[in-house]
Amino acid sequence: MKTTVKALENSRQNLFIGGAFVAPASGNYIPSFDPTTGEPWYELAEADAADIDAAVRSAQTAFVNPAWRRMTQTDRGKLLQRLAQLVLEHADELAAIETRDNGKLIKEMRAQMRAMPDAYGYFAGMADKLLGDTIPVNKLDMLNFNLREAIGVVAMITPWNSPLMLLTGTLAPCLAIGNTVVIKPSEHASASTLALAELIVAAGFPPGVVNVVTGNGDSAGEALTRHSGIAKIVFTGSTATGRRIAQNAAANLIPCQMELGGKSPHVVFADVEMEHAVNGVVSGIFAAAGQSCVAGSRCFVEARIYDRFIEALVERTRRIRVGHPMQEDTDIGPLALSAQLSKVESYVASGVRQGARIAVGGKRPQSSDLTGGWYFEPTVMTDARNDMDFMSDEIFGPVVGVIPFSSEEEMTALANDTHYGLASGIWTKDIDRALRFARNVDAGTVWINTYRASSFMSANGGFKESGYGRRGGFDVMQEFSRVKNVVVDYSGTMQDPFVIRLR
Ligand code: NAD
Repeated sequence: MKTTVKALENSRQNLFIGGAFVAPASGNYIPSFDPTTGEPWYELAEADAADIDAAVRSAQTAFVNPAWRRMTQTDRGKLLQRLAQLVLEHADELAAIETRDNGKLIKEMRAQMRAMPDAYGYFAGMADKLLGDTIPVNKLDMLNFNLREAIGVVAMITPWNSPLMLLTGTLAPCLAIGNTVVIKPSEHASASTLALAELIVAAGFPPGVVNVVTGNGDSAGEALTRHSGIAKIVFTGSTATGRRIAQNAAANLIPCQMELGGKSPHVVFADVEMEHAVNGVVSGIFAAAGQSCVAGSRCFVEARIYDRFIEALVERTRRIRVGHPMQEDTDIGPLALSAQLSKVESYVASGVRQGARIAVGGKRPQSSDLTGGWYFEPTVMTDARNDMDFMSDEIFGPVVGVIPFSSEEEMTALANDTHYGLASGIWTKDIDRALRFARNVDAGTVWINTYRASSFMSANGGFKESGYGRRGGFDVMQEFSRVKNVVVDYSGTMQDPFVIRLR
């Protein structure tokens, strides 16, 4: 079984196509690196266009296979329930695999994996609850109704930061409706998705319903998103890649769902408990070492508490423990990629060149225990402006810039002054003000006196360059089904087609 770190260590992992693990046509494999050492720890298959074609064909065959097509909704729900149970049984192993692959904290990954079965269960329960409509058309003896049905083969492309959790919110509803899927996980963190494939087999899904192709984005990902056999693309990743994939989808005239980057505003008013707001801002930006799409990377603080807030934020940030992600007392682990570390360093340097000041952090930690790993200290930058590069681009690292504001109008303008629109947060005891913010901010999620609290039961997604389409909640069932209108004349007659009767 692949569901342990030990089983993956120093191994070569194949593609999962048609219910079996198969070697890539080219025979090529690429290394996946351990972010705590910078060393390779297993190899994943590098899929090329031939492998992608095989995976899509397998999903197409499975889509019309009676074993899947004629399975009742209730039975599809039961399969998802079985998968939920298997994920629960293997939650700790899956968590250890993700931590090894992307360096995120074991305690965070464990919490994610233990929450995932509930999500599978939630969508399993929806399998037999997707209703069509009957339309009361203005004609006698006529039944007009909408059927909701599966759309076909869905391509799902995931990033490295929370591969399985991000996949769950779309894979579970997609399967609940009866679609088939080809998943392309990130080349930087494919191991947990390959492990999930084994659980999908064990749950009893017919072969080809779920396929996993691994490899680089510009080859495997590109071939998948251009393939004419795909009915829809679900992409979670950076805005730049999303833009490219949307062009490929347009060429094939298929819809896509885009879950992209963010530069989320996190607002603090003077009326709050300082300690709570500081904890909120710290969790908003430094959880997962800032490698979170919803990271609150632009912090706006009411001017009259600005100095006190910065002092408290810096003090709290200094107490954050940077360390090995497998240790229970670590607060921040390494960044997942060496390129990510260089990117963070270069944005901090550019911020300083553009006039910002490092209040705390701003460099790699000096501890000898962390040598070789891709670690970066949690960093607070003051004297920031929205037009600085580190404040306008998504860094995806543990860096927050802080800006004071004097009025609600100024704060709203500053918060919305971004190309992104994923998430936002506000700390205030004034409920009217909080709700005005919720109304006025351009973001798919608004957190009031909390941050990062999300649920698969509610719709998650972005505005502006953070994407479109929603993950979570019942409405996601619409995203993975299509409407077919059926018209039945039960009058038992057919009028002469050339005689038009006016009412
Ligand atoms: P990325 O865009 O580099 O890669 C994401 C996936 O796309 C990977 O599987 C990659 O192989 C694939 N890919 C790359 N080029 C491709 C191409 N030309 N065609 C098809 N596929 C291609 O993103 P990343 O660095 O893995 O992840 C970090 C980004 O993801 C951040 O921008 C973050 O904000 C975003 N993200 C968004 C959400 C959300 O829900 N909105 C959640 C998590 C991460």
